Amino acid sequence: MNNETPKFRKVEPQQNKTSFRRKIGMVQSFAMALASRGIKGKKINTATKQLRVLSCFGNDSSGGVLPPCEHLGDSKEKEGMHFCEACGCGDRAGTWLIAESMEYGKLDYPKLACPLSMPGFTNYMPSKEDESVNPITRKYYIENIDYTDLQKVLVNIAEMPEELRQAMENSKNMKKNLNK
Ligand code: SF4
Repeated sequence: MNNETPKFRKVEPQQNKTSFRRKIGMVQSFAMALASRGIKGKKINTATKQLRVLSCFGNDSSGGVLPPCEHLGDSKEKEGMHFCEACGCGDRAGTWLIAESMEYGKLDYPKLACPLSMPGFTNYMPSKEDESVNPITRKYYIENIDYTDLQKVLVNIAEMPEELRQAMENSKNMKKNLNK
C-alpha cells in the first residue's frame, strides 16, 4: 500500500423520500414474512392480529385516518359484531371477525385468507405500483404506516379452543386421505 492519503467518494445524505421508502419496505416485508411463515399453533402473534385488525377495521375510530374496509359488514344478529361481506361466510358467531371479550374470533385463526389479500392474512399480496397514486388504496396506506402506529392497534389474542383445533385437524386428515 502506498502512503497517499485515501480519497473517498462523496455520499449524498438520504433524502426524506428515501427514508420514507425504507419504512414502507419494513412494514411490507414484515407483512410478507408473517404471511409466508404459515403461522402454526393455537395462537397467532400480536403483530399479525394488529395487521388484520387494521386491514378490516382501519384506525379512524381511534384517531387515525384509515376508514374500515368497504367489505366490513355490521352484524344483524348481534349489535357491535362485524363480519366480512366479501368472503361469503355469512353473519353468525363463528364468522364474526372479533369475538366477544376474550373468545376466539375469525381474525384469531392462524391461517386466514382475505378476499383482498390484505396485510396480516395468509394470502397477503403486496400492493401494485399504481396503488400509490392518489387516491391511494387502503393496502398501500397500511404498507406505509409507521411501525409505531401499527403497534398502537389494541388487540386481544385468544387461544383456539381444543374442540375447534381437533375439528380442524380431523378435516385436514380427511382431505389428505381423500387425496391419496
Ligand atoms: S375483505 Fe379482507 S380486509 Fe375487508 S373485511 Fe374482508 S377480510 Fe377484512
